[in-house]
Amino acid sequence: MREWRRVIGGSTEGRREKEQQRGDAALWSKCPKCGEVLYRRDLAANLDVCTRCGYHFRMNAYDRIASIADGEFIEIGQDVVSSDPLGWSDKKTYPAKLGADRERSGVSESVLCGFATIGGFPVALGVMDFHFRGGTMGRVAGERITLLLEEAERRKLPCVIFAASGGARMEEGMVALIQLAKTTAAVARFMEAGNFFMTVLTDPTTGGVSASFAFQADVIVAEPKAMIGFAGRRVIEQTIRQRLPDQFQTAEFLLEKGAIDMVVDRRSLKDTLVRLLEYTRHDTKAR
Ligand SMILES: [Zn+2]
Repeated sequence: MREWRRVIGGSTEGRREKEQQRGDAALWSKCPKCGEVLYRRDLAANLDVCTRCGYHFRMNAYDRIASIADGEFIEIGQDVVSSDPLGWSDKKTYPAKLGADRERSGVSESVLCGFATIGGFPVALGVMDFHFRGGTMGRVAGERITLLLEEAERRKLPCVIFAASGGARMEEGMVALIQLAKTTAAVARFMEAGNFFMTVLTDPTTGGVSASFAFQADVIVAEPKAMIGFAGRRVIEQTIRQRLPDQFQTAEFLLEKGAIDMVVDRRSLKDTLVRLLEYTRHDTKAR
């Protein structure tokens, strides 16, 4: 457990140190919505939410875990690592892309899975990171999520997964597509056994992830203004030959249409999750 704290601290601090070495520019972030220039430290203290307009920046998986979990996060499946099933190569080889993303993002794959407590409730927790290969789901993500659900079922714990994904991982072709069926089946088994499953859809949740486990949950929460959908706007407009509404594929639009249950500001997300866990599982509270 202590080991995890060290790893998390190391990762976050290590990243900030690198930013500092890159110079002052890296110490500031400009809000893409309101244009405010934000000091990175203030932004981090506000959970990567713009202090002026409330824009939700995309979050690193380790920062996300730190914002939600009470303390320790016991990771599982970290020994499941990427291979190169198709021998894929374009401008770079697939293993070279994986190595570069691992270095840049500080995470080992597009999803981290493990166990933690949230407001005293033990949960199985999966967190996707868009900074690793656009949060795409390949063999590793599919296997880690399946492992998480199986282990949660064995321990009779609720499972919460934060989605952030561009869809299936192109470089793994059919091997990536089959993860939709695999994770869908794993969720179905988990829920049929009477366990509680919740997803939090963050910007963006698209493609194969929205078409599989992300929309299978008992409760689906989303962050404000998150882009959520399957295919892109242009593809749909060209197919159905109609102009889509401006708000199409936003969390708020999906809430209005009944596709999701809640839109929750990141700064009150932990309290909301605790309340939902209280409603559903009175017997899981840590004693
Ligand atoms: Zn802003």
